Amino acid sequence: MNSKELFKESKKYLPGGVDSPVRAFKPNPFFVERAKGSKIWDVDGNLYIDHCLAYGPLILGHCNSKIIEDVYKQIQNGSSYGAPTENEITLAKMVIGRVPCAEMVRFVNSGTEATMSAIRLARGYTQKNKIIKFSGSYHGAHDYVLVKSGSGAATLPDSLGIPEDTTKNTLSVPFNDQTALSNLIAREKDEIAAIIVEPVMGNIGCVEPKEGFLEFLREITEKNNIILIFDEVITGFRLSVGGAQTHYSVTPDLVTFGKILGGGYPIGAFAGKRELMEMIAPSGSVYQAGTFNGNPVSVAAGISALNQLDHSFYNELNKKGDYLRNQISETIYNLDLNLQTVGLSSMFQIYFNENPILNYEDAKKSDTEKFLVYFRELMKNGVFIPPSQFECNFISNAHNYEDLEKVVIAIENSLKIAWNK
Ligand SMILES: *Cc1c(COP(=O)(O)O)cnc(C)c1O
Repeated sequence: MNSKELFKESKKYLPGGVDSPVRAFKPNPFFVERAKGSKIWDVDGNLYIDHCLAYGPLILGHCNSKIIEDVYKQIQNGSSYGAPTENEITLAKMVIGRVPCAEMVRFVNSGTEATMSAIRLARGYTQKNKIIKFSGSYHGAHDYVLVKSGSGAATLPDSLGIPEDTTKNTLSVPFNDQTALSNLIAREKDEIAAIIVEPVMGNIGCVEPKEGFLEFLREITEKNNIILIFDEVITGFRLSVGGAQTHYSVTPDLVTFGKILGGGYPIGAFAGKRELMEMIAPSGSVYQAGTFNGNPVSVAAGISALNQLDHSFYNELNKKGDYLRNQISETIYNLDLNLQTVGLSSMFQIYFNENPILNYEDAKKSDTEKFLVYFRELMKNGVFIPPSQFECNFISNAHNYEDLEKVVIAIENSLKIAWNK
C-alpha cells in the first residue's frame, strides 16, 4: 500500500489515522519506510532531508551507530526490570554534571510526565495552587497546562474533557511581557506556586527571550516565593551542554527534560535543587511513580547520546545552524520578501510575517496559509519540516553542508511558489 492507501486504512483503526495530532497533515501524511542520518524515506519511494527529526529528539540524526550498539547491548540483557540499575545513577550524574540547577533527578517516560510531576512538586513544596504559564507555550498534553487564554488572565480548557476546575489554577500571560507578568503576580502573589516557561518558545515557532527577560523571571520568582520551572524538553541538550540555563546564565529551581535526553528513545526527567527533589516519593510525600520510569533501554540510549554531546559537538552543530539561517535570510532578501528568519543554535524557522515576533500574540498574525503552500513545496523538493508555522525546525550533526545547500535551494523554490515570484 502507498501512503494515501495506508492513511485511509489507518483512519479505520487509529483516530484520525495517527497517534499524535500534528502528524495528520493534508491531504495525507507520508508513511515512513526507514530513516538514516539526515534522511527519511517514505513507502512511496521518496527521500527527504529531515528537519523535523521526530520533533526534536534526534540531534544525532537517525540511527546513530554508537546508540544502536549500546541499545543492542542492553536489550540482550533485558528491556525492563521494575528494579533499579547502575545506569540510572550514571545518567543522573551526567545530567547533574551538565545542568546548573540539577542536584537530583527523577526519570519518567515523557516530557508530559515531567512537567506534570514538576508542577505537582512545586505545589507540594510551596503549599500553593496556582501556576503561571505563557500563552502559546506547550508543556505536554496533561490537564494543568492544556489551556488557552480567556478574558484577562483567566484560562479555559483547550480540550473537551478537562474540567474548568482544573485549569482555573493555570494563569497565562504573553511571553516577553514583564509588565503583564508583574501585574498578574501583584494581584495573585500569595497563591502562585510556580512559573513554568520554555526559555526559548519552541512550540509557536521559535521565539527567544528578550534580553533580561529570564533574569527578570528569576528575580520576581525569588522575591515572591514562587518556584521557577524551565521546561527544557526542547532546549535541554540542544542549545548547549547545559541547555538554555547555561546558554542564558539563569538558573531555575526545577527543570524538565524529554526529547534529546533519551537518544531517540522514550524518556522524560525532572531535576532540581536537592531540597525540592527530596520531597519526591519515596523520600518525601509528593507522589510520583511509573512502571517504565528509568527504563533501561532509554537510559542506555541517553547515556550513549550525552557521551557524544560535548562542547566541540555544539560548536560544529551551531556553525551549521548559523550557516543555514544566514543562507535563508539572504534568499529571502534576494526574493525581495519581508519575512522573519529566526532561531539559534540548531533551531530555525521562517515566520511568514513582516514584523519581529516576541510572543504568541505576534506569531498568530503570520500567514499560515502561505506557510502550508511552502511546506508542501518543500516536500516536493525533498525536504521534510513539521507541517506548521508554529513548530520549530531542527538540525542534527548528521546533516552535512551538502544537505544544507540542497535545503536552501528547496526553500528558495518553495518561497517562490508560495509568494508567486
Ligand atoms: C515536546 C514537549 C513537551 C512534551 O513532551 P512529550 O514527550 O511529547 O510528552 C513538553 N514541553 C515542551 C517544551 C515540549 O516541546
